[in-house]
Amino acid sequence: MTEDRNDENTSEFDEATRTNESPAVESSSPGDKSDASEELRDSNPCGEDDEAEPSPDSSDQTSDESAAPNLANDQKDTSKKPAKVALPGWAKKVGIGVVIIVVASILYVSLYHDWAPATCTEPQTCKICGKTQGDPLGHDYEDASCTKPKTCKRCGSTDGAALGHEVPDDAWVVDVRPTCTSEGSEHGNCKRCGEQQTKSIPKAAHTEGEPQVTKEATVDSSGNAVAGEKAVYCTVCGAVIRTEKYTLSPEEIEDQFKNSCESPSYEDVARNPDDWKGKKVTFKGKVIQVMQDGNSYTLRVNVTEGRYGIWDDTILVSYKAASGSARILEDDIMSFYGTMNGMYSYQSVMGATITVPLLIASYAD
Ligand SMILES: [Zn+2]
Ligand SMILES: [Zn+2]
Ligand SMILES: [Zn+2]
Ligand SMILES: [Zn+2]
Repeated sequence: MTEDRNDENTSEFDEATRTNESPAVESSSPGDKSDASEELRDSNPCGEDDEAEPSPDSSDQTSDESAAPNLANDQKDTSKKPAKVALPGWAKKVGIGVVIIVVASILYVSLYHDWAPATCTEPQTCKICGKTQGDPLGHDYEDASCTKPKTCKRCGSTDGAALGHEVPDDAWVVDVRPTCTSEGSEHGNCKRCGEQQTKSIPKAAHTEGEPQVTKEATVDSSGNAVAGEKAVYCTVCGAVIRTEKYTLSPEEIEDQFKNSCESPSYEDVARNPDDWKGKKVTFKGKVIQVMQDGNSYTLRVNVTEGRYGIWDDTILVSYKAASGSARILEDDIMSFYGTMNGMYSYQSVMGATITVPLLIASYAD
């Protein structure tokens, strides 16, 4: 049966070829047609619509079977009539089918696209060949809110940052007042979304008290000031806010020196001069002799007051006065403050050797 029908088709096809009519549509059967379509899609991506649907090759397989018997005849025919059609009928069918497939593929590729819809960032795009058409849609933004940045309603992409809550400065209500040792807190409502916000209030400043001496300023053995230290405390919590160095003023240094002087008797220092050497002492007495060299004085001073205004017991005082201070004269009653320096011997006018306690004075009144 099949062979018979095929023979008929072949002759019909020959007829059609001679009259330049396409036998394609008539000769194809439904089942074969779908096979042909399948083959097309596999080998050719984008193509033309069904108008150019190929199909005559549908009989390829069946004609293969019928090819052998026909071949001999066809070859005979060819030798007899070389000017006429050289190929057997089945081969012509195959040739035309291939041509139709190629043409259909070209049309399919050039005309048919499977469009994916445009997105925010991509235009309409062919899923098969990648060709594009039109413009991207662009983002469709929803305004930013306190908690969300500007966001595209379509694709969800964001731009910028969330606005954050915003409480006007005068809308804060203090819940806990800060102290110098603990933070406070306050609350207020966001002017945009109304959500209540809380925040801490920084610690309050300390309250400064009067500086307190933590280390006394002093004077060293040479009379130089040695810095002390004062601290400023918070009157509320007692914390040390800061410390500061301080030194004694010249007046304070003098006062401190004078206050630290002992007041030995003449007999004390004359009897045990080594015990007193280097110690700070003060003597009050009457100047009985003045030897002056600029501001430097060497004085003989009687330091024991007797009856009727008589002063006895002489010591030697070495003293450098401040420049511009009043001159020291004989018979002045003065107080000297200084350091004992043992015994000192000198020759008297009469040639006798006189030995007296020596005071190196730093201050004199
Ligand atoms: Zn395409
Ligand atoms: Zn978008
Ligand atoms: Zn808010
Ligand atoms: Zn405090």
